[in-house]
Amino acid sequence: MNTAPLSRNGSFTLRVNVGEQCQYDCGYCRPGLVRAPTGAAKRVQPTEYARLARLFGSLGVKKVRFTGGEPLLRPDFREVVAAFHGALPGATLALTTNGQRLEALLDAPPPGLGAVTVHVDSLQPERYRRLMGEGDVRAVLASVVRARELGFATKLNVVVQRGLNDDELPDFLAWSRRADIEVRFIELMNTGSASEFTRAHFFSGAEVVSRLGATQLGRKSAADPACLFRAADGTVFGLIASDTAPFCADCARLRLSADGRLRGCLYEPEGAPLIGLLREGASDAMLGALMKRNVAAKQSHHPSLALPRGQFSMADLGG
Ligand code: SAM
Repeated sequence: MNTAPLSRNGSFTLRVNVGEQCQYDCGYCRPGLVRAPTGAAKRVQPTEYARLARLFGSLGVKKVRFTGGEPLLRPDFREVVAAFHGALPGATLALTTNGQRLEALLDAPPPGLGAVTVHVDSLQPERYRRLMGEGDVRAVLASVVRARELGFATKLNVVVQRGLNDDELPDFLAWSRRADIEVRFIELMNTGSASEFTRAHFFSGAEVVSRLGATQLGRKSAADPACLFRAADGTVFGLIASDTAPFCADCARLRLSADGRLRGCLYEPEGAPLIGLLREGASDAMLGALMKRNVAAKQSHHPSLALPRGQFSMADLGG
């Protein structure tokens, strides 16, 4: 794979990790195991997000996805969304959540939020609790359907795990048809926080395709991490095969961690200390220059490149 800096002319998606904490404990993620979560006072604050968002807008950020950890655990989540919506009124604002607190959010959705992706690794209540944590999958799925009815662009993320949920692939397709909501199957990525688990339960995208007798349709856009497939039963699903079929050459994602570091790649070890600089009194020009340098130097650190990288949990950087 090419290690040269990736040049980008178009638009970027900013993935904002609003906090690393999560009430779930998925075997491949393990929030808090590698690094202590950023304390509430140290996290990027809504007023800081508003200032950064304007600068990100000038850089070409057209879409913002709030992730974590679990974003809906953050008490001021609405203010965070409002900060981005106020600064970037034309941007698509999306949420990735485990859905446990989605129902309450949908009672009064934050203005500007337009898309919701919910992560569910099993449709079976008991297995769901075993794989993810205490929670009721039926209630989560009902919230996903309600989100769609309310007009949100809605998707379901499933991390496929050998021997744990790979037998449910057809069930997820049946659910997708019934609910008319796209399901995206995700390959396990080895981020270093649960290497043994990842090795034991890795199930490749190619196996998903073969198991479902699927044919490839292609990506909705070049920068979309999911490639669409049509299963033998006619259901269209997405596949994110980050491990075996990395899409780094087309990646248009930037990541802002809860402690305010900007990365051009999930696997980038350090990132640029954006909030550190802001809190030291940097001007917009200085912050903008740091962002531009980071974007110009955006390059892949994918594990297949064997570049230096540390261990992390997806919850640390935002999946
Ligand atoms: N709490 C939210 C959720 O559950 O979706 C947002 C954060 S979570 C880290 C985002 C996504 O990353 C989830 O779909 C999760 O399954 C996925 N994820 C976490 N660790 C992963 C890994 N090692 N490989 C693949 N996907 C992973």
